[in-house]
Amino acid sequence: MLFNTRLLHGKSTQGFEQGQTLPPISQVSAFRYESMEDLEKVFAHKKMGFAYTRIGNPTLGAFERRISELEGGTGAICCSSGMSAISSAILAICESGDEIIAGSGLYGGTIGLLHDLEKLGIHTLYADELTGDSVRSLVNERTRLVFAELISNPSLKVVPVTDVAAAAHEAGIPFFVDSTTATPYISRPLTLGADVVIHSTSKYLNGGGNSIGGIIVDGGKFKWDFNKHTALCEYRKYGPMAFSVRLRTDIWENLGGCMAPANAFLNYIGTDTLGLRMERICENADKLAHAIDKLPDIEVNYLTLPQHPYHKYVDSQLGGYGGGILSFRVGSKERAFAVINSLKYAYIASNIGDIRTLAIHPASTLYVQASREETEAAGVYDDTIRVSVGIEDAEDLIYDFTQAIQNNPPGT
Ligand SMILES: *Cc1c(COP(=O)(O)O)cnc(C)c1O
Repeated sequence: MLFNTRLLHGKSTQGFEQGQTLPPISQVSAFRYESMEDLEKVFAHKKMGFAYTRIGNPTLGAFERRISELEGGTGAICCSSGMSAISSAILAICESGDEIIAGSGLYGGTIGLLHDLEKLGIHTLYADELTGDSVRSLVNERTRLVFAELISNPSLKVVPVTDVAAAAHEAGIPFFVDSTTATPYISRPLTLGADVVIHSTSKYLNGGGNSIGGIIVDGGKFKWDFNKHTALCEYRKYGPMAFSVRLRTDIWENLGGCMAPANAFLNYIGTDTLGLRMERICENADKLAHAIDKLPDIEVNYLTLPQHPYHKYVDSQLGGYGGGILSFRVGSKERAFAVINSLKYAYIASNIGDIRTLAIHPASTLYVQASREETEAAGVYDDTIRVSVGIEDAEDLIYDFTQAIQNNPPGT
């Protein structure tokens, strides 16, 4: 089965109890049992069943199986937000005194989280360019994790997954990839060597901008060294599944960041159209980037432009697609505001992955708390406009951005 057929007919879409075509929404907090003996067995993992939605719910399970199947994982856990997914995944394997190696240009919330973790004694080293060689130069006996975004937003740096995974594995360390901006339609990091994939489902998986969520997918192949990853020691009997088991029965359950059942349903039906939406979004972004790149005084950052420093990965790792995010520089903050305010169709909103085109001035919003160095490392300048391209007609988007740019010449 190819992508869209597997999306609609894969194993994870089958087997709902009464033949429902979609997973029923189990909008409950708890599940009742005929006898106390039955509930005892469920708690002891001796009988399959649900007890309490924070530790498991059938609607969440349906969405988890679906994303795990799309990514090629052995299991998944869905969370209340992308940040909840990232924090749970990191805290499942890192302890005080441990170090993380991270790529640069990370999502602002992730930079904030890694900063918070410093206070718990978990230290992060950043690689300006995350490659196998940069991992080898930063790794030491305290390193427990390599973390990166497959396509960083909005700097659009692409991480060479196979190369980085090989260097991490040489050192006995897993490689976790935030693949939110790529989606399994464009790339499947687990098939390239990554060990765990994380998404903010709030973005492209949901697609309609109607609920916050996150998911962690375990490849289930990493050979944990329990002398190194002592956080997983208690779970050694589960072998390669130790991470998943610790997450589900310990960190995720106790941090309490479960996804709401109704949101799992919205994410499930949003995912139905992932392939169609990504096809159209990437085509629109490519056309819009090429069109505004021709305008004078505009510097466009988009992966399929031939001059882009990461252009080579479009074919080698991204299936020929450039993704749905582009940014461009217009010369000044004042002009950036004027251009955004003149757009007829793009919503001024701080989100990505919606079917509607969204535009924002990231320096004055998403990065207000970051230092100038962190902001520029993320590819954000005072005159940068970020666009999350939607599924409108490309001709209308090109017309709209062209008029907004031309009606607000430099100096406005
Ligand atoms: C949005 C986003 C997150 C955080 O997700 P939330 O659902 O907003 O918590 C993490 N990583 C990336 C790349 C994102 O775009």
